[in-house]
Formats: sequence, C-alpha cells, structure tokens
Amino acid sequence: MPRLSSLLDVIFPPRCVACQRVGAAVCAGCLSSMQPPVSPICVRCGQTMHVTTVSAASLCAACANGRGPKHLDGIRVATVYTGAVRPAILALKFRGQRRVAECLAPLMQAPFQSDIRTADMVIPVPLHTSRRRERGYNQAELLARAFASLQDLPVRADVLMRVRATEAQTHLSQAERRRNVAGAFALSDPVAAKMIAGRRIVLVDDVTTTGSTLDAAAEPLRAAGAASVWGLAFARPLADGSDAGDTP
Ligand SMILES: [Zn+2]
Ligand SMILES: [Zn+2]
Repeated sequence: MPRLSSLLDVIFPPRCVACQRVGAAVCAGCLSSMQPPVSPICVRCGQTMHVTTVSAASLCAACANGRGPKHLDGIRVATVYTGAVRPAILALKFRGQRRVAECLAPLMQAPFQSDIRTADMVIPVPLHTSRRRERGYNQAELLARAFASLQDLPVRADVLMRVRATEAQTHLSQAERRRNVAGAFALSDPVAAKMIAGRRIVLVDDVTTTGSTLDAAAEPLRAAGAASVWGLAFARPLADGSDAGDTP
C-alpha cells in the first residue's frame, strides 16, 4: 500500500520552492544551479580566499591572525547563499517546507567527503526551546538527519542544548556575533559528556556567516573531550555582506 505522503503527492504534487516547477520541493534544475564556494578556500574556516592572500598554510588572513574558529577543526559549506539557495532556505526555515531538507542534504556530501572525510556522530545546532516551540521543528536538525542518513551516520539531537536565546545576528559585526553567542550552548546532561569524549563530531547548521554560532556550539563538545568537531552548513553568504545572517 502506498504511503500517505506519496498519495498526497499525487493529489497535491509538490512545487519547487524556488522556481515553482511541479515535481519536487526543490527541482533538479535549481539544485544543479547551487554552487559551492569558489576555490581556493581557507582550510580552516572554508571561506573563499582572494588569491593574493593565500598563505603557505592555505589559511585566510583572519584565520592566520587567530580570528578564525577557536573550538572547531574547521568549517565547510555546501553552497553560496545566492540564487535558488535563498528561497530554498527561507522555505525550510520560515514556511514549514520540511521536505526541502531532503532535497538539499545530498549537496552536503561533497564537502564532507572531500575535507571532513569521517565522523562518528552528527549533531544539529540546536534552537532555543522557545524558538523551536514557535517553529515546531529545527531546520538544522532536518538537514542533519537527511545528511546523516545518506552517510549512514548516527544523529544525536539531544546532547547539546541552547541555554540562552540569542538575538538575530544579521546586523552584528563579527566581534559582536562572537559575544552574542558565547556561552549560549551547553551539554544537556553529564551522560551526554560520556557520549562525546573521544568522538569525531560534525555539527550541522543551515546557514553560517562568520561561523560564530557553530564555534560557540563546538565549545562544550570540545570541553567534553571530543576528538574533533567540524562545522558543516548548507550555505554561507558571500563575504560582501549578503543578508542571510545567523538568524537562528
Ligand atoms: Zn526549481
Ligand atoms: Zn579562514
């Protein structure tokens, strides 16, 4: 017997959230238009580097000067936040279009496989409970689950919690973002710490800008003895200040 969701697809076929074409929540054409950051990227923060600033260690100027992620091994993103990525993320985040996550997650495999390579566990960046209640779900968790099932990795959405609601970061500078999210995350209980010790973790978020949220989320994992913590986001705005922000 066909699943209810496939019956509903026949009656109300999904439309692409970006171009309205009937058939999938994000169509193949829109998915193939989504592009990864232009190479070369900084080995640590994953930002595209201007060729003139490429150092011998392949670090961007910020990371070379100690202003990169402090608790993460590195950050990688699947796409640049532009074109079809924008309506897809907005639909996933603000319009309840949960199925967008399954369409987008396959694009997260390339940066994982080429740079992060291996992990024991995938953890979504949690929302504060008040926001989660308001939205009804955590878009980062939907992406994390879809990505992890493609990679056959376990997901733990219960070990990390957001202990402080933070203000939207869109209009904050990098230093302000860091202060805004510092100490915003903690392990949910002492048993969680045992689960983290010695493990290689991939933290998943939908959008990252400066990486300050991912880095703050990595801090308690590091403190609990994680062997490695990578940040993996679906998208990042271009460094010229596009408008995605780190709105949780
Ligand atoms: Zn489309
Ligand atoms: Zn960097």
